[in-house]
Amino acid sequence: MSERKIVLEAAQKLYRLKLVAGTSGNISMRSLSQPDSRFFITASGMAYDTMGEEDIVEIDQAGAPLNPAQRPSSEWRMHLEIYRKYPQVNAIVHTHSPFATGFAVCQEKIPLILIEMKPFLGGDVPVAPFAPAGSQELADGLIPYLKDRNACLLANHGVVCCGKNMDDAFIVGEYVEDAAKIYYYAKTAGTPVILE
Ligand code: 13P
Ligand code: ZN
Repeated sequence: MSERKIVLEAAQKLYRLKLVAGTSGNISMRSLSQPDSRFFITASGMAYDTMGEEDIVEIDQAGAPLNPAQRPSSEWRMHLEIYRKYPQVNAIVHTHSPFATGFAVCQEKIPLILIEMKPFLGGDVPVAPFAPAGSQELADGLIPYLKDRNACLLANHGVVCCGKNMDDAFIVGEYVEDAAKIYYYAKTAGTPVILE
């Protein structure tokens, strides 16, 4: 499958599963033929339900679109910084999923509470410090939080999820939201027991 098709299908699924609202969130992957210098990313501010393969933007390692008429996601710095620092990451899914983003707004990590969090997420889900959306400060600030982890929360913003391929990065996004929802219910029901 082409990179454009892989990114588009994941983006539409992201919207369908309500892991984002409106045009928020974004998705990228490394080029299959030029993994260190070319990347495919969703267009900025575009509705997911009308997005087509032609709207997936190919960018170089400086974030410049190969087709200058296209506008890549405003979060291209965050995506490229992760690819630069973590060579094993080949796909990134950025969600604003509601339960996880609730904890991001409280700047509260999601602790290790479920068995699947260890193999899929690498453990708990830490919170990277607040920085303006799209900034290099945001990109730099989250890097340490992805060491030994496949996801982190972005304070007062959302979630960033990584994988060796798109399926892996996507399931990380689903498990982060599931863990956040269950942690929320557990806190309501009683005192959650942490598995660390
Ligand atoms: P883009 O539409 O530019 O990808 O921005 C969405 C978003 O989630 C910003 O953090
Ligand atoms: Zn965002």
